[in-house]
Amino acid sequence: MTTLFAKIIRGDISSDTVYRDELVTAFRDIAPAAPTHVLIVPNKEIPTLNDAKAEDKALLGHMMLVAAEVARQEGVDQDGYRLILNCNRDAGQEVLHLHLHLLGGRPLGPLLKRD
Ligand code: 5GP
Repeated sequence: MTTLFAKIIRGDISSDTVYRDELVTAFRDIAPAAPTHVLIVPNKEIPTLNDAKAEDKALLGHMMLVAAEVARQEGVDQDGYRLILNCNRDAGQEVLHLHLHLLGGRPLGPLLKRD
């Protein structure tokens, strides 16, 4: 395991972890874009969604359910929240370890900035 997120999952780099099980780890983003900004990351290192395989189907579904659980934990489930998954350059993916962003705690505005 070599990515920044793999080091966080291993505990080599500290993080504010809010959820952990045998498949995923969720921790607060270091530069939050909203009052709640949690990253939901598979413990298995998958660089991008393009690299996910059929065998990862249950893991991908589990990430969604964990997102809903963390949203409940954070108290944003009723007011609402947004999940973002960036893939590669045009989406601005910085860390090549698949992750979901969970954002909430304020109205989040339109989905995309218009150019
Ligand atoms: P991406 O752009 O790849 O979808 O998102 C990567 C996210 O990781 C960014 O929102 C960034 O703020 C966050 N991040 C980068 N380095 C660290 C770190 O060392 N710790 C934590 N908790 N988040 C990080």
